[in-house]
Amino acid sequence: MRKLLEKLPKAELHLHLRGAIPVEVFASLLNKYDVTAILEGNSYRTSGMFERYGNIRPFLSSRNWSVEEVSRLFQYENFDQFLATYHFTSYFIRDTSDLKKLITGVLEDLRAQNVVYAEITISVIEYIQQGIPLPVILTCLEQATDFPGIRVQWIVDLVRNIGHEAALKLLRQIIALDRRSVVGITLGGSEHLFPPAPFENVYAAARDHGLRLTVHAGEALGPESIWDALRVLKVERIGHGVRAIEDPDLVAYLVEHRIPLEICPTSNLCTGVFSSYEAHPLKALFDAGVPIAISTDDPTFFGTALVDEYMHVRDMGVSDSDILEILKNSFRHAFLPDEEIEKYVHRLLTIHTSLAPTVFGSIPVSQAPLSC
Ligand SMILES: [Zn+2]
Repeated sequence: MRKLLEKLPKAELHLHLRGAIPVEVFASLLNKYDVTAILEGNSYRTSGMFERYGNIRPFLSSRNWSVEEVSRLFQYENFDQFLATYHFTSYFIRDTSDLKKLITGVLEDLRAQNVVYAEITISVIEYIQQGIPLPVILTCLEQATDFPGIRVQWIVDLVRNIGHEAALKLLRQIIALDRRSVVGITLGGSEHLFPPAPFENVYAAARDHGLRLTVHAGEALGPESIWDALRVLKVERIGHGVRAIEDPDLVAYLVEHRIPLEICPTSNLCTGVFSSYEAHPLKALFDAGVPIAISTDDPTFFGTALVDEYMHVRDMGVSDSDILEILKNSFRHAFLPDEEIEKYVHRLLTIHTSLAPTVFGSIPVSQAPLSC
């Protein structure tokens, strides 16, 4: 089954650019910079936050690190340690060549996994804070659309922690630059401190400009956050949304209105939303009829990859034919024109039929030529 999943064309709809940084790419950036100099004045550094954690501590002094040594940075025991590590890595993408190296590394990695379509989330503000101007960032994103062998579109995370007024200002700057590779927006960050509803104007402005809408909700907070995302922000998809399971009326709404959840099982365990794969509600949501797409969120930081996630879904008791449905969903709910979605689904089914006609049963496909 793993071999089959590796060969099938797949889509990633919920993947953060820096969360997918290949270890080799981070090792080269770590070796490029003087760590002491770039962390000068950093509040985590001055408060001793980085020194506190054994996985980060060795990397606070510069030397030539091997990839194997750097891989230990991404091993931690608790959520605070993960947050500190995520924050630590943000200081090493400081100019255009770093950003291009990051994007290229992530796309090569996805392509090697047979991910043929990806909507990658980028928090542009963190690169702006390191000194890369917004127009330059967006040009890098635009250039990535020419990368061979994988189709990529970008979702900008406006980062809810900057507040709704700053988020609206940032959105207007992005809209003014009018780059077609940016297909939609989301909000990541602290759902507790910055719930969805105050961002109504931000989402209205994005919708008016033709941008597609998703948001992280129902991860740290419960169903009320998802209801606000649907009724106030009027989103088309929910990032995570797994706590919808706590409200049967919400589950029924998601089913009736065909609102997909972008579910990232390992992420939900790493961030403490659920204690184990057995306790994860994915199967219950799927069995209730909620559209589900599987993604990895921050695969480097969570020690996972897309096929690993599908294997976890299988271990949760989802049948092989239902896994094929979920594979299809990841294309069906992409922010793409219908005709492109149809081509991707057709390509998936054709390759699946040729590789495993007996695994999922016989699935009829037309004989139309493939073109994506
Ligand atoms: Zn996310």
